[in-house]
Amino acid sequence: MLLDNYDIIVVGGGHAGCEAASSAARLGSQVLLITISIPMIARMSCNPAMGGIAKGQIIREIDALGGFTGIVTDHTMIQYRMLNRSKGPAMWSPRAQSDRVQFGLKWLEVLNGIPNLHIWQDMVDDVIVKENKVIGVRTKIAGDVFAKAVIITSGTFLNGKIHIGSNNFAGGRLGESSADSLTSSLFHAGIKSERLKTGTPVRVDKRSVDIQSMTEQKGDDNPGKFSFTDTPPLVDQLSCYLCYTNEMVHDILRIGFENSPLYTGRIKGTGPRYCPSIEDKIERFAGRDRHQLFIEPDGRNSNELYINGFSSSLPIEIQLKALRSIPGFEQARITQPGYAIEYDYFSPTQLHFTLESKIILNLYFAGQVNGTTGYEEAAAQGLIAGINAHQKINNDGDLVLKRSEAYIGVLIDDLVTKGTLEPYRMFTSRAEFRILLRQDNADQRLTPIGHKIGLADNARIRRLEFKTSMMEEMERILSENSVLPTDINPFLERVGTSNISHKQKYLNLILRPQIKLTELLQYDSFLNEKFSNINSNTKVFAEAVESLEILIKYGGYLEKEREIADKITRLENINIPEDVDYMAFSAMSMEAREKLLKAKPTNIGQASRISGITPSDISVLLVFLGR
Ligand SMILES: Cc1cc2nc3c(=O)[nH]c(=O)nc-3n(C[C@H](O)[C@H](O)[C@H](O)COP(=O)(O)OP(=O)(O)OC[C@H]3O[C@@H](n4cnc5c(N)ncnc54)[C@H](O)[C@@H]3O)c2cc1C
Repeated sequence: MLLDNYDIIVVGGGHAGCEAASSAARLGSQVLLITISIPMIARMSCNPAMGGIAKGQIIREIDALGGFTGIVTDHTMIQYRMLNRSKGPAMWSPRAQSDRVQFGLKWLEVLNGIPNLHIWQDMVDDVIVKENKVIGVRTKIAGDVFAKAVIITSGTFLNGKIHIGSNNFAGGRLGESSADSLTSSLFHAGIKSERLKTGTPVRVDKRSVDIQSMTEQKGDDNPGKFSFTDTPPLVDQLSCYLCYTNEMVHDILRIGFENSPLYTGRIKGTGPRYCPSIEDKIERFAGRDRHQLFIEPDGRNSNELYINGFSSSLPIEIQLKALRSIPGFEQARITQPGYAIEYDYFSPTQLHFTLESKIILNLYFAGQVNGTTGYEEAAAQGLIAGINAHQKINNDGDLVLKRSEAYIGVLIDDLVTKGTLEPYRMFTSRAEFRILLRQDNADQRLTPIGHKIGLADNARIRRLEFKTSMMEEMERILSENSVLPTDINPFLERVGTSNISHKQKYLNLILRPQIKLTELLQYDSFLNEKFSNINSNTKVFAEAVESLEILIKYGGYLEKEREIADKITRLENINIPEDVDYMAFSAMSMEAREKLLKAKPTNIGQASRISGITPSDISVLLVFLGR
């Protein structure tokens, strides 16, 4: 046999596959990552950016658990912005513009640095199943390779079909072959597949664009980063640019509709609702005379610009003509066409919370194959699948994050409980405990869990303890010390809040929305002096100040959310046996019985989130369970 036996085989070297392979290997498994093309490892299929609303929080969570996506992002970003700063801290979302090529290379460097992780370039055609348990895979070149567990992370490649106007052809991404056998192998093993689609815009040679005629969007003045580890700070940021389509652009695009694979019905799969193509936008929002576009650099040494917001599968001549009608793009030269891609995915209701298949033992699924869209969603699932596959084959229990613990918990619960009929992306609105699931406290929420599993190292836990003790000391100073009206009123007037007439504890002042702790520290020399005794020159200091200020200002909300989360956790702790005869519950509607039978929820909390299940159905279940 060409290849040895392994503990775990990961199929696919995308964002999910990289996290799955690295986590399982770092936990001690012998891992083989099989991917169609090694140079394409961790390729960004669409825009060269990581994070953003809710997605930035997911990267911080991956990092806090001990994953690598945040570290790789920090090493390769070319711009950093904290989105939603003007809103409450639950909404603050870090976003990075990435260097596409460097991102993939950095991931490869990370994977190559893990001794018990091997990479093999090949195409997996089949899963080998014996007595309902996966025992390996069959590849085109190496033949049979055996393992105790297999993780499928094949992204958009399964029966991938690319559409550009009336032209369509097989492909996993532009320039890469599709994987056309794996779906039928999984189907024969009892796993059902469906179709989805997604799309991407043209890339343009920046030397052919008058970028100066557009509105510049710079990165943050003091750029932050994603990882809680000591990754290098970002220097020398590149700018993005904003511009708009116009009526003429829309008219040109409409001419192409008769050759559009979307409108002629050639594309059958459902596309991402929140990332629509430009043709979708001009149809759905017909009253709008312009749409905003973000012009994003592809990397430090790249000539390519990514035209965010201009995703299209129209004929390439139409894409070019429409683009050239946007001011600044009159002479534009396209380097890659926009296109749509249809691919197979497997409904995630066929999975346990660990991302193991309910149908085939020790077979895991993660990433776009589960119906999600986005690098971050994929990476998060890869991490959880990698950890759980390793723990399963070592009888080490399951890692299932709660909805109140992490966006990753929300993501997996939504997928497994409700399934998805369109590409699923994360939003803050999907989480009911947003103020608990902030980007600043991902380490406090998850690093102890990552450390217990063995993925987050001792340095991470020491850093967290350092930050926590710093926050406690800062809070003590603020609650024990007071300030006189004469000393503080000029500052209060300056920031637009009312004067005080008696001396007040600093802690009370911080409760006011107008007062920022960092500004107060700059103004008040007494407080500044006290704070400077607690390692104010360390990187952790700024993080501790930010987290403490949020805890003080939003303490009331936090307490309320925590109470509700605790109540829900009690429901999650009421387990439902697997063999319940739902059809015997005559007090329940037939709809509820059928839905429960199909979903087979493992606990009352999950049952309550199945769409169509009412509180009275839950009462029936609780009575049955003797509660
Ligand atoms: C055209 C296009 C447009 C997109 N637009 C957006 C967007 O607008 N917004 C957004 O959030 N996301 C978008 N995405 C999705 C985003 O790229 C994915 O969500 C993300 O890459 C998923 O990561 P993944 O690891 O699941 O899969 P991928 O990144 O697709 O990686 C899959 C990996 O598996 C390998 N592989 C597949 N089959 C096999 C096999 N049989 N044997 C061996 N190796 C195999 C491939 O070579 C590849 O390395 C788009 C993707 C594409 C292709």
